[in-house]
Parts: sequence; structure tokens; C-alpha cells
Amino acid sequence: MEHWLLWDLSRGEVAFWWDNWSGLGPLAWRFPEEASDARATAFLREGRWDYSALASVPAVVRDAAQGSFFCFRLDPDTLVWLRDPSGVFSIRSTYQLVRLARARSWVFSFFWHSFIPRKLSFFMLRLVNGQLPMDDVLEKFQIHGPSKCHCCVLGQLETMEHVFLTGQLASATWAFFKHSLELSTSAATVRSRCATWWLLPVKGKVIRWLMRILPILILWFLWRARNMSRFEGRKICGSQVRALIVHEVRMLVRAHFPGITVLGQWDELLKALSVVRRALTATAVRWAFPPTGCFKLNTDGCATE
Ligand SMILES: [Zn+2]
Repeated sequence: MEHWLLWDLSRGEVAFWWDNWSGLGPLAWRFPEEASDARATAFLREGRWDYSALASVPAVVRDAAQGSFFCFRLDPDTLVWLRDPSGVFSIRSTYQLVRLARARSWVFSFFWHSFIPRKLSFFMLRLVNGQLPMDDVLEKFQIHGPSKCHCCVLGQLETMEHVFLTGQLASATWAFFKHSLELSTSAATVRSRCATWWLLPVKGKVIRWLMRILPILILWFLWRARNMSRFEGRKICGSQVRALIVHEVRMLVRAHFPGITVLGQWDELLKALSVVRRALTATAVRWAFPPTGCFKLNTDGCATE
């Protein structure tokens, strides 16, 4: 937090080693051996830095002092909050600083993303954490009952791995998309299946997007098929699940890549997505002298390098 609090020196009454006036943070953190309770005024003389006094401090501190633009006067030193353009401290900007804006796990980062609908992100969160109310999960909470899956000709025990990976409906659905994408991957668990697809080295922005969202859509519609069968008594066959997935992909492509024509069957859609390439343009960037009579203020220090 101290790195975002910068002192704008005037009287120089701040602690030279403990307050962040240099932009380097509290200097005592870097140089605990040299640190003391001295104020900045101890290094000032006649309204300027006293370079003979600064000669005893580390070179990086001396450089920071020499490169500063303080106007030493009788006004009080001012504390500037760097997280806000106004320089005034605000809870709002502090919240942006301390909140965790990224997913903690790299697996989570694959389904917590702005282009993935929130309902799918929450669904995946529950799935990877084993929190979907499947029969094997309910057993852990002492809810025992006859368990029978709705995805096979001959009913089997309903487990997460069965419904989403090894059951007949799941196997057929994964196999359809796997063959259409010419993949040769295999995985023993739902989680590793997703990770395998997500990490495949594929070319093209749209195909990378597809490889990221397709496993999630497959799992989502397998889950919906399971729920419709169990709670509504409506059996959904493999071709219907595939059609629902393809329809959803088409809708999402239309939303995220408006320039792509998404008519036709899955094969045609896949072909259309495969040929999309990002248009590359090159722009030369260089420093240029200002016109005669004008000045440029280099604020990032590039002029010194
Ligand atoms: Zn089954």
C-alpha cells in the first residue's frame, strides 16, 4: 500500500527513510542498514537538496532525489494517492487495488472469462468442485436412494464421471466433436478431459476460442439432458444433444465474431471458423523531434536512455 502513497515534498518534514517521497517506496525497506529517523529536511539546504549530505546515501536514492521536481517552500508536505488521478484517497480505488480480479487456479481461469456466459462459469465451478447434486455426491450427505443413470440403455450408477464422460450419451457426444476436430486425445476424468482440450496448441483466434468453450458446452448440455430426463421424464438422444451444442456455438459465434457467417451444419461452421485469421498490420513507432519552437515533455524517462 505504501507504494501507492507518495509524498509531495515542500517543507520536507516527512521521514526520509520511512515515507515514500522518492517513488521507490519506503527506503528503509531496501536499505535497513542505512535507515534512521532522519527527516528529509536533514538533506536540504537553502530550499534545495544538499548534495554533500546525499553523498552518504545509496546511489539509487541520490538519483531519485536529483531527478525529483520538488519545490521546497513553507507549505506542508502533501500526501498523494497514486491510484486516483485526483491524487485524493478513495475507498473505491483502494477496493480495485485489493480485490482479487483474477481466478486463483489456472483451471478456473479457463471458465471464468468475459466471453463465457456466467451461467456456464458457475456451472463449471460447481462441477470441478464436485458440488452438482448427482447421486454419488448426495451419498456423501447421507442421502441414499436407488441410483440409476438416464444416459445408457441399461441403467448404471449415476456418478459425475459417468454422466459427463463414460456414460453412453457422454461418450458419444465427446466422440462426435473429437472426431470432427480430428483430435487424438484421451483422458480418464472430466477435469483432465477439459484440461486436455483447453491446452491443445491450435492456431487461430476463433479456433482457440472454440476449444475453450466447446468442452464447457458439452458438459452443460449433458447436464441439461440428465435433468430433463430425471425431472421432466423427457429423454434426449445423442443427436439432439449435439444439435443443442452446435446451436449454442452458433449463437455465441454470432455474438462474439459478427463478421463470420454461421449458417449451415457443424462441419460447415467448423470450416468457417478454421479459416478466420487475424489481420496483421505493422506500425512503425519512433521518437520524433517536435517542430521548431515547440517542446516535448518526456515524462517516462525515455529521453535519458
Ligand atoms: Zn449411463
